Amino acid sequence: MKFGGSLITGRNQLQWAALLAIAVVLPTVSLLWFMSRVVANERLVVRQKLAALYQDKLADATARTETLSTVWLAGLDKIKPATNPYSIFRRLVLEDNFQGVVVWDTDGALVYPPSADVAGSGVPSDSPLADAGQQEFAKEQYAEAAQLYDRFSADGDPRVAIAAMTGKSRCLSKLGRLDEAIEECQKAAFAQLPKSADPALRLTLENARLLLLSLLQQSGQSPLHARILHRTIDALSSDLYNADGDQALLPANQNLFIAKKVLAVLRSAGPPDDAKARDKLEKLAAAEELSIAAAETLRPFDGQFDGFFQTDLDQQRAYGLRHRTPSSTLLVLLSEKGITFPLSGYHDTFAGSESAYRIVDASGGFVAGIPHPEGKSFTTTALPGAFPGWKVELYFQGGDVFEKAAKRQIAVYIWTGVLVILLILIAGGFATQAIGKQIRLNRMKNDFIATVSHELKTPLASMRVLVDTLLEGHIRDEAQATEYLRLTAKENERLSRMIDNFLTFSRMERNKVAFNLVEARPAAMANDAIESVKTKFAAHNCSLAVEIAEHLPEIQADHDAMVTVLVNLLDNACKYTTDNKQISLKVFPDDGGVCFAVSDNGIGLARRHIRRIFDRFYQVDSSLARKAEGCGLGLSIVKFIVDAHKGKIAVESRPGKGTTFTVRLPGGRRNGD
Ligand code: ADP
Repeated sequence: MKFGGSLITGRNQLQWAALLAIAVVLPTVSLLWFMSRVVANERLVVRQKLAALYQDKLADATARTETLSTVWLAGLDKIKPATNPYSIFRRLVLEDNFQGVVVWDTDGALVYPPSADVAGSGVPSDSPLADAGQQEFAKEQYAEAAQLYDRFSADGDPRVAIAAMTGKSRCLSKLGRLDEAIEECQKAAFAQLPKSADPALRLTLENARLLLLSLLQQSGQSPLHARILHRTIDALSSDLYNADGDQALLPANQNLFIAKKVLAVLRSAGPPDDAKARDKLEKLAAAEELSIAAAETLRPFDGQFDGFFQTDLDQQRAYGLRHRTPSSTLLVLLSEKGITFPLSGYHDTFAGSESAYRIVDASGGFVAGIPHPEGKSFTTTALPGAFPGWKVELYFQGGDVFEKAAKRQIAVYIWTGVLVILLILIAGGFATQAIGKQIRLNRMKNDFIATVSHELKTPLASMRVLVDTLLEGHIRDEAQATEYLRLTAKENERLSRMIDNFLTFSRMERNKVAFNLVEARPAAMANDAIESVKTKFAAHNCSLAVEIAEHLPEIQADHDAMVTVLVNLLDNACKYTTDNKQISLKVFPDDGGVCFAVSDNGIGLARRHIRRIFDRFYQVDSSLARKAEGCGLGLSIVKFIVDAHKGKIAVESRPGKGTTFTVRLPGGRRNGD
């Protein structure tokens, strides 16, 4: 049966669907729009954010360089002009990490490196040693020369005495008398100098020491000789770059010459514990070499002050800075490697990161960082004042990091968006389900009301006709009156059963059916059900075969509810059977439980209907079903009751042959029922 009301629910359904679509589609579309805007802006935002971040880092590194250069310049101001120039040199090289120094006085005269020319090691012609020199160098008469030198080895002039001893030693070595030569040379090398030794005397002494070094190197390494070698090196090193201020200054080139000799010995034979002293000497010698080159090339007053400039010295690239103090002009030098020290802030900040830096000087020459970075620099900053015109450029390595960062961020937004849309869809799905359920329930209610009114009206109308006929006296005889009354009673009974079913269903709908599950006897249920349908079966010529097994187990059940189940099944069996109605009810034990089987030889059910006959209001649309009274609630009530008993219901049916409904209830006591 189809009833009115579906139109109303259909419209409702449409409204609900539209509402739901708006609830899901509107936020989804808004979100998608928002995401597209976000994606568009993200690149810009990321670029700005990163640039700001790197600007901050750059500012930090620049501040470090600035602090360092300020400290340096302040240090230069403190240099006392009266100090021994070697002490200035030592301090600036060893403590302040410069690789060269030039000092001029206020008039521009060179103070360091000292350049005064001093008489060499050769024997001057006006010297008392001229004859000995003649014998040694011109005639190569070494034995005679040695004797001539020997005469002056105790001369009152220390320079003559030391030169004589050195000459004798040289001749002895040329004669192959190495041990004697060393003996003699030692006397010269460690001679006591007067306090006021002049540079020439110092040079004579250092020459004796250098000779001793080479003699010792020729002699092989006896422990005694090793000790002497050590002593000689100590003596030479302590004189070099001496900062005491009370020694005669050697010219820088002589100083450097001696330093190189000492270094050569130290490199080849120096005892290992002298490594630190050797490094120091290496540093000083290299700085002196650069300083000499700078003093030859650069002028004190041409060019700017207090700013590093690039220069080529001795085919080496270097960076110089002139600084003026009240009493001198200083030039400090940084080598190509040394320039990285004041710029180390940039290295520490950017090396190894995804950004690369490049520092260029005022003329655009590369100074530090990555010489050939890829791409275009994304930000540039000027270096502090000590590096005039210099700038640091930042590059991204390995592709555009802005793009990468933006892509990462965009991916996060997209995934969040997808997640939110999914959540909206899931919520929408749940809402659809809930609303669908509500719609179905509504429809069912409407159907129910319509069905109830319709079904109740039919027997009521029949009864009214019958009673009216009786009241109006339009009856032939007593027998007809009895027949009318019988029919009225039958309609009444039908009405009662119908109302019973409706009430059960209504309670069931509201889940208010409280079943009273107690020990019950299956046979009694079957008998009560038979009693209930007896009259109807007789009226319809239904033959009912009953088979109740003798020993049935007791079951936990609601007696009345189970009678309702059996009455409904028997009622259907009768309703959906045409001629020769053969119906049977069998009750038998089954695996501890009890089965009730109701069979008929009626119209049967197609497979596709079997799945649905337990649905509320479902009716097979056959002519018989249409004719038969009922509203599609019977089997749903049956199923509800059987389920409440934790039982099972099975249907076996073949169209045209008949149907068997088997209800199985479990036996024994069950907890919680
Ligand atoms: P109704 O009040 O229409 O009988 P039911 O819920 O009791 O409602 O049954 C649902 C449908 O199942 C019926 O409309 C009928 O088509 C079918 N049906 C029920 N019992 C039988 C049966 N014994 N034989 C054939 N069809 C049946």
